[in-house]
Amino acid sequence: MAEENGLLPVVSFLKNADTDDPYLEGHKCSECGAVFLGERDNCSSCAARGKMKPTRLSDQGNLYVYSIVHRSFPGIDVPYVSAVVDLEGGGTVKGNLINIDPEPEKIEMGMPIEVVYQKAPRKDKEGNEYLTYYFQPRS
Ligand SMILES: [Zn+2]
Repeated sequence: MAEENGLLPVVSFLKNADTDDPYLEGHKCSECGAVFLGERDNCSSCAARGKMKPTRLSDQGNLYVYSIVHRSFPGIDVPYVSAVVDLEGGGTVKGNLINIDPEPEKIEMGMPIEVVYQKAPRKDKEGNEYLTYYFQPRS
């Protein structure tokens, strides 16, 4: 019997969701070193073809931009902080910034953050559980 307690990744670029070593995956150009999220055949930076290789992204980065969300879908707690971070070594990822007050005075552009992984608060219709990722201020 297969184990049925594995979490599913909430997005396709979250790897190893069912283990204690999850990570975000990007694709790196072996010609110019540019890193992108998601699979692609051609480099958007130098236009090299067929040079994109999967790469494990860093769990450390810096806040690039954010917005405080005050209205969302029913059942989603607001306000929350929607953020875009630049990861060390490349890769730009969007996600929610947690463990910080959703107030502009508390959030600094460029502040160091880390990626954390948590079980998603909701199951899907089939009762599957998901692993998701968040950003939080680096301590
Ligand atoms: Zn390239």
